[in-house]
Amino acid sequence: MALRCLVTGGAGFLGSHLSDRLIERGHSVICVDNLQTGRLSNIAHLLGNPAFEYRQHDVIAPLEISGRIDRIYNLACAASPPKYQRDPIHTFQTCVFGILNMLGLAQREGARILQASTSEVYGDPEISPQPESYRGVVNTVGPRSCYDEGKRAAETLMHDFHEARGVDIRIARIFNTYGPRMDPGDGRVVSNFVTQALSDKPITIYGDGMQTRSLCFMDDLIEGLIALMESETVGPEPVNLGNPGEFSVGEIARIVRDMCNSRSQIVHSERPVDDPHQRCPDIGRARRMLGWAPTVSLTEGLAPTIAYFRSELGLVGREIGG
Ligand code: NAD
Ligand code: UDP
Repeated sequence: MALRCLVTGGAGFLGSHLSDRLIERGHSVICVDNLQTGRLSNIAHLLGNPAFEYRQHDVIAPLEISGRIDRIYNLACAASPPKYQRDPIHTFQTCVFGILNMLGLAQREGARILQASTSEVYGDPEISPQPESYRGVVNTVGPRSCYDEGKRAAETLMHDFHEARGVDIRIARIFNTYGPRMDPGDGRVVSNFVTQALSDKPITIYGDGMQTRSLCFMDDLIEGLIALMESETVGPEPVNLGNPGEFSVGEIARIVRDMCNSRSQIVHSERPVDDPHQRCPDIGRARRMLGWAPTVSLTEGLAPTIAYFRSELGLVGREIGG
């Protein structure tokens, strides 16, 4: 059945790929975005497609949609730490008022709603890998709190609207995801390292580089999001989506430098406050309930990502290394 899907944050990195996949599958998409970190260039190819509608709107304000809505994917929220920390009050409002507005819409329309939650709900975890049952260690009063606590509060609102008002919910706890259409200037580890390596500028490791992240290629993640939304068995409990392949930030820097054939030096600077030491998803629940697991290795995913950044930076002539 063709579904009418609302994608908030649809002009962003993940939201634009999600919109593509939904339209490829015969659905229609209403993309809602305030362009805070998203870019119209991410959705330029969809503008004019009758299955795609773009609405510039900030989700902290109520949203009226005419006609039925079957699915709401709530992705609106800057994901990069420097970006979400620029206006922390607005980030918190986006998380909390945004999901409240979308849950109200879901309730009125009888739509199923998926929240793009995050591994940040685990904060700086004491166990690894992190299963969904782990409750996390999160600072309520630090630079990351607006995002981490905003996303935790959004999960609570999802749960409460499900319990008290019967809204059909899905919660995806997304771990670090990368790929083409990331904003080269957004300050995340992959975008920084690749743009630095491609321009032979120093690769900036924050701290000693021993902290770890598990990086998921966007194709895998989008498959997981849609599988979670369409699963009839998974229920309202959160589901981790990410690639369990865990790398230290130092390893990521060296892999990127080699793949870019770069002469960049690797330099170290101060570690950001509350930067988590380790992060690795336990994806047992997604495997069992969705039959989902990532298929793209880090080097396989970095190749098209590097090609994308090279074209964004207007660089030509440097081949990808092994
Ligand atoms: P992104 O910054 O590229 O996309 C976020 C989009 O939301 C942008 O288009 C931005 O303009 C829009 N937006 C932000 N605030 C808004 C508001 N108040 N009203 C309307 N639109 C707003 O980030 P992304 O990587 O595509 O992340 C998408 C979602 O996935 C986010 O909710 C993020 O928290 C979540 N997530 C992403 C990752 C990741 O590694 N990419 C990891 C965990 C969770
Ligand atoms: N990081 C880094 N150099 C950079 C950007 C990020 O060393 O130029 C580190 C950062 O300190 C963190 C990891 O890479 O330990 C992932 O950072 P990112 O901002 O991508 O995501 P998050 O911290 O939200 O997982």
